[in-house]
Amino acid sequence: MKSPAFDYIRARSVAHALEAYRDLDGEGVYLAGGHSVVPSLALRLQAPAALIDLSGIDALTGISLDDGWLRIGSMTRHAEIASDPLIRDHARLFHLAAPHVAHPAIRNRGTVGGSLSLADPASEFPAVALALRAELEVAGRDGIRRVKADDFFLDIYETAMEPGEILQAIFVPPVRTGEVCAFDELARRRGDYAMVGAAVQAVVEAGRLADISIAFFSVGNKPTRAGAAEAVLRENAMNDTAIAAAQAALDADLDPSDEPQMPASVRRHLARVLLGRLLGHLGTTA
Ligand SMILES: Cc1cc2nc3c(=O)[nH]c(=O)nc-3n(C[C@H](O)[C@H](O)[C@H](O)COP(=O)(O)OP(=O)(O)OC[C@H]3O[C@@H](n4cnc5c(N)ncnc54)[C@H](O)[C@@H]3O)c2cc1C
Repeated sequence: MKSPAFDYIRARSVAHALEAYRDLDGEGVYLAGGHSVVPSLALRLQAPAALIDLSGIDALTGISLDDGWLRIGSMTRHAEIASDPLIRDHARLFHLAAPHVAHPAIRNRGTVGGSLSLADPASEFPAVALALRAELEVAGRDGIRRVKADDFFLDIYETAMEPGEILQAIFVPPVRTGEVCAFDELARRRGDYAMVGAAVQAVVEAGRLADISIAFFSVGNKPTRAGAAEAVLRENAMNDTAIAAAQAALDADLDPSDEPQMPASVRRHLARVLLGRLLGHLGTTA
């Protein structure tokens, strides 16, 4: 199918993009890498009056360190996320997750900001932002605010951003001494959306995984912290018994729906298997 006709506006600044969106009276759509927007136009899932291109806005680019926090501009492409040394050293989960996102052609255009704004529950980066306890900088008509990743993802394709707001940057907290992390997903084929995936980060302290965060994706309507499993691992020394208890605790944490191609019981099983693998990996790197 062909896209419906639309105007194209190349925004010069965040203020220009916000103004263009306001002038379109709800009929504008921001364009980042276009790898979700453009297919949705071709499928006629939406018919905006205009696309407002964010790719010429310098303020949305760049990767830099400020007082230990890593700032990642929202227009950073998936391929840069995979290769940038600052991301490898200061936001390692993004580095580990990026090669799992789609295929090289998509990673060359798709942006981290587009992925987080879209909030597809099957996407890797929203779960990574949760596990990293990142903060998301959002610009709107009333100024700029920072939203914790825990409060950002509300439901399927729904975030805490108001219509017309722009995700400017992702801020990742400073790396702590003894920090370890692991990322993996189970997909039918490399490059496919995952059947189940998870990102884990913790600080190793006296044989325990202190301050652990576990974020699952593709298991429910939004990326999900596994709070009950985290509590088991925070409170017990890391050994086979603790891993088994954390796997069992996932029943309380995850609420996958029954789907014709995959019953909820299978997804729960895959989540337990994946958590076991990730914790085993942390055990060997700790
Ligand atoms: C064949 C195929 C396979 C894919 N596989 C995967 C996969 O395995 N894992 C995965 O995570 N993704 C996958 N994707 C999606 C891909 O990663 C997209 O690039 C990504 O989801 C959206 O990023 P984008 O930059 O292309 O955003 P766009 O498509 O340009 O925009 C996506 C949405 O976010 C909004 N938006 C974009 N940037 C901002 C911003 N800064 N502030 C506010 N709103 C904004 C847009 O208005 C739009 O609603 C796949 C895509 C394709 C086509």
